[in-house]
Amino acid sequence: MYAYLELRLHLTARLAHLERHLREIESDRRRITNPLDPDWEEQASTRQNDAVLDQLAAGDCQQMAAIRAALTRMAEGTYGRCRTCEEPIAPQRLAVLPYATQCLICATQAEQQVQHTPHP
Ligand SMILES: [Zn+2]
Repeated sequence: MYAYLELRLHLTARLAHLERHLREIESDRRRITNPLDPDWEEQASTRQNDAVLDQLAAGDCQQMAAIRAALTRMAEGTYGRCRTCEEPIAPQRLAVLPYATQCLICATQAEQQVQHTPHP
């Protein structure tokens, strides 16, 4: 039952780091969108900065969702198993991609299917 304890700690720490980072982005944005800021030039450059922050925040959110899903799978005991073929995912793959939900074979097949699907 203590399987993946180290990885779970690692993911939990990563999640906390991302949450902190996201809060920093949010507080940055609040400062930036201050309508009382009289410096127009400053506002133009900060609006550009806003788009970058949005992208960063979106990336953080995506990663946090993936980590939360991995932690849920750990709690359920389904972590480390491919969601498609239910075979164990190779530890080397999990080491590189701790949030992987598919084994390398299924992930590769899924990728190829996406690539080969003709677009209307
Ligand atoms: Zn598989």
